[in-house]
Amino acid sequence: MNSGTLNYGDQTIDYSIMRSKNLDKKILIHVYPNGQVDVEIPRTSTESEVRQAVKKRARWIMKQLKVGVDARAHVLPREYVSGETHFYLGRRYQLKIHETNAEPSSVKLVGGHILITLRVRDRAAVKNRLQKWYKERAIDYLSRRLALIAGELLWLDDVPSLKLVSMQKQWGSCSPTGAINLSPDLIKAPRDCVDYVIAHALCHLREHNHSKNYYALLDTCYPNWRVTKSRLDAMAELILAG
Ligand SMILES: [Zn+2]
Repeated sequence: MNSGTLNYGDQTIDYSIMRSKNLDKKILIHVYPNGQVDVEIPRTSTESEVRQAVKKRARWIMKQLKVGVDARAHVLPREYVSGETHFYLGRRYQLKIHETNAEPSSVKLVGGHILITLRVRDRAAVKNRLQKWYKERAIDYLSRRLALIAGELLWLDDVPSLKLVSMQKQWGSCSPTGAINLSPDLIKAPRDCVDYVIAHALCHLREHNHSKNYYALLDTCYPNWRVTKSRLDAMAELILAG
């Protein structure tokens, strides 16, 4: 049993099923902004129990899916032209492309603008240069925040190493070796959201699941996380477009 489908009115809900050895009784349902529905179940759950759980929360699932559809509907892919807005640490900046023959190319934040100075002015060149800049900024900013937040956790001896990894469904995770993986796109999210994602990943170094103990730990590490998480979820589509 890896997946299932539930008819709900004239709609269907397709979901993936994941067994988790860390859950004892509860079935958890996750709805992602891209429309994916994951059902996390204890090892002992039967197929009909899973169906019942999905059915019981069908209304809520449909509502979450609609939020995702609405968000995607007004998000247009980026074109990488002057005047277009791009996110950096939760703020929108207007792209300003300055064509020059001089090397090297550069990207700078100037006032409310991201100023890109480069030789070729086609879409791909601008996109590449901008992505390179985002990555550099991400390494710099995210490693500083990671060091600061990890440094405040008394149960953590060392600051874990940071790796930038593009992830489909997640902003961050921790690897079995104890490194913290963060999406390079996180640099586009607001500062408090960045801190929340780092705190969330760090807490997994001690609790490798989403158990009660995990959330208790996260509550001490980042008390206001629920509000910040929903803010980030609501912005995700917009931030990641293009
Ligand atoms: Zn987690």
